[in-house]
Amino acid sequence: MTRRIAILGATGSIGKSTLDLVERNRERFEVTAVTAATNADALADVVRRTGASFAAIADENRYRELAELLAGTNCEVAAGEEALAEAAVRDAELVIAAIVGCAGLKPTMAAVRAGLTVALANKEALVTAGALMTGSAAASGSTLLPVDSEHNAIFQCLAGSHAEDVSRIILTASGGPFRTASAAAIDAATPAQAVAHPNWSMGAKISVDSATLMNKGLELIEAHYLFGLPSARIDIVIHPQSVVHSLVEFVDGSVLAQLGSPDMRIPIAYALAWPERMATPTQPLDLASIARLEFEQPDPQRFPALRLAREALEAGAAAPVVLNAANEIAVASFLAGSIRFPQVVDVVQEALNAADYDAPGSIDDVLEIDRATREKVKSMMQASCT
Ligand code: NDP
Repeated sequence: MTRRIAILGATGSIGKSTLDLVERNRERFEVTAVTAATNADALADVVRRTGASFAAIADENRYRELAELLAGTNCEVAAGEEALAEAAVRDAELVIAAIVGCAGLKPTMAAVRAGLTVALANKEALVTAGALMTGSAAASGSTLLPVDSEHNAIFQCLAGSHAEDVSRIILTASGGPFRTASAAAIDAATPAQAVAHPNWSMGAKISVDSATLMNKGLELIEAHYLFGLPSARIDIVIHPQSVVHSLVEFVDGSVLAQLGSPDMRIPIAYALAWPERMATPTQPLDLASIARLEFEQPDPQRFPALRLAREALEAGAAAPVVLNAANEIAVASFLAGSIRFPQVVDVVQEALNAADYDAPGSIDDVLEIDRATREKVKSMMQASCT
C-alpha cells in the first residue's frame, strides 16, 4: 500500500535525503505536498520529480515565479504562511517536518492537531513549543516520530519498554569540528571552519549549532519533551565517531544503544517506513575498520552552550523560546560575518539574562516571545557594534 506523505522543507538537507529514499521506493510513497522558503527553482524540480499535487512557498514574492515554473503541470501552487500549514494537512498521512527554525512551528502544529503521523526533524518546534505540541499530539492521537538521529535512536531503544523501567537516557554528541581545538582557536573560528562538520553533512544553521554544541543543548530540551524525562535523567557524552547514536539505561543496569553509519537516511527511513523498516543505500557498519569507539565528557569551559541550554530547560516557561530565538539570530549574524564565533553563545546568554516573559500558553504566545526576543537581540547586537 502506498503511504501519502507531505515534505515540509523539501529543498533542504533533510528534504533532499527524504526525496532520495522516496525515489528509491516509488511503490511505497505518494508525495502529496512539498514546501520551501524562497527556492522556487529547487521546489519546482522537486514537484517534477515527485508529481506532488500541492507546492507551497513561504515567500509570497516568489509565487509568480513558482507558478510559471509549474505551468502545465497538475500541481496547485500557493504562497505564504497559511499555504505551508495547508501543505501539512492536505491529503497526507505522514508529514516530514523538515523546515529549519521556528518557521516550522505552525505547519508542524497543523499536522499534529490534525492527528497525522509527524516525522519530526524540526527540533526548534519541540524546543519552543514542546509542551503544547506533545499535549496536542496526545489530544489528537498524532504520533511524533523523531528524525533527529539521537532521538530516533532512543525511540528505537525504548520500543516495547515501560516508562518506569527507564533510569536515564544518554545523548551522544560528536563534539563538532572544534572538539580538540584550543580556546584560542575556537575564538578565531571562521564560518567555513564552523560548518565543516567532521561526520555529518547538514544545513548551515545546524552545523554551526554542532560547532558550539548548542545543537546538543537543543536536543536535550527536545529529548525532555519527547520522552518525558527531567533534565537530571538526560546525560550527554561526547562520542567522536558518531556511530553510537544514543543510549537508554534501564533500572536493571542494562543499557541499549542504536548504532549505524552517520547517514541521516537511516533515521529518515525508519520514520518513513515505521512501524516497518525499509532498505537504505547507506554504508553497512564495519566495526572492525572503525576499530575504536571513544567517549568523553563535554568540556563546559570551551562549550558553554550546553550549560545554557540545560539552565533554560530547568527554568522552563519562556526560557527555551528565548534560547532558541537568540541562537538563531546569533548564528545568522556569525554566518554573515557580523559577530565572532564565541559571541554566538554570549548573545544567547545576554538574551536569557534580559528576558522577562510569562510562560507561553499558546503557539501565538510562543511566536510573540520569539519575535520580541529576535528584535531585542538585534538591537543588543547593534548597540554593542556602535
Ligand atoms: P536546511 O537549511 O538544509 O533546509 C531548510 C528547509 O526549510 C529548506 O527547504 C528551506 O527552504 C526551508 N525553510 C527555511 N526557512 C523557512 C521559512 N522561513 N519558511 C518556510 N520554509 C523555510 O535545513 P536542514 O534540512 O539541515 O534542517 C531541517 C531541520 O531538521 C532543522 O530543524 C534541523 O535542526 C533538523 N535536523 C537536521 C539534520 C540534518 O542532518 N540536516 C539532522 C537532524 C535534525 P529554501 O530551500 O527555500 O531555503
